Amino acid sequence: MAALNLSRLIAAAADAIADNAEALTALDQAIGDGDHGLNMKRGFEVVRGEAEAFSAKPLPDALKAIGTKLVMTVGGASGPLFGTLFMALGKEISADPDRTNLTTAFGKAIDAVAARGKSQAGQKTMLDVLQPVHEALLQGKTAAEIADVADRAAEATIPMKALRGRASFLGDRSIGHMDAGARSTALLVRAVVETIGE
Ligand code: ADP
Ligand code: MG
Ligand code: MG
Repeated sequence: MAALNLSRLIAAAADAIADNAEALTALDQAIGDGDHGLNMKRGFEVVRGEAEAFSAKPLPDALKAIGTKLVMTVGGASGPLFGTLFMALGKEISADPDRTNLTTAFGKAIDAVAARGKSQAGQKTMLDVLQPVHEALLQGKTAAEIADVADRAAEATIPMKALRGRASFLGDRSIGHMDAGARSTALLVRAVVETIGE
């Protein structure tokens, strides 16, 4: 695995969210309150604006600081959950991670999100992308394959019934729409693995 360039990773992630903010909002309009694109864009633009300061820190501290910033700026249900993902990743990752460490840390970070959200895969949330991506990492898949796994996993939330988050209030009417948080997670995964994998 190439050494991580955090500035490039932040820029790639923020671009992916900014370029897709309207699409994310449209997904959240269908079965939520229509703010997911705006929530994510607000948070990731703040992180982008402070990228230099984050990048000056050792990777674990940088990820913890990014997670804290996302909790403060994204808001909604997804802010604390994405924030937890990054904070927990920072707690578990080493300063110069190899793939094994990254994979283990990512698995523990997903567990932290599930604990925070009182949720698990299969409930039509971001966890339905995070978990298959972890499995793909464990299986030794390439960056391109992992990005495709993430996209397919987001698509696979379409026929699911939401059991967590606002969409769960709709019951069966949540079926037939992609989960917005699953989609934003897939966008972030593609941005990150393609940047690392280059
Ligand atoms: P809000 O629903 O408060 O407006 P957002 O629209 O920003 O927040 O984020 C909604 C997304 O958060 C959902 O699409 C889903 O992926 C994710 N989400 C909501 N609740 C949970 C939960 N308990 N566990 C995991 N993910 C969740
Ligand atoms: Mg919303
Ligand atoms: Mg909201």
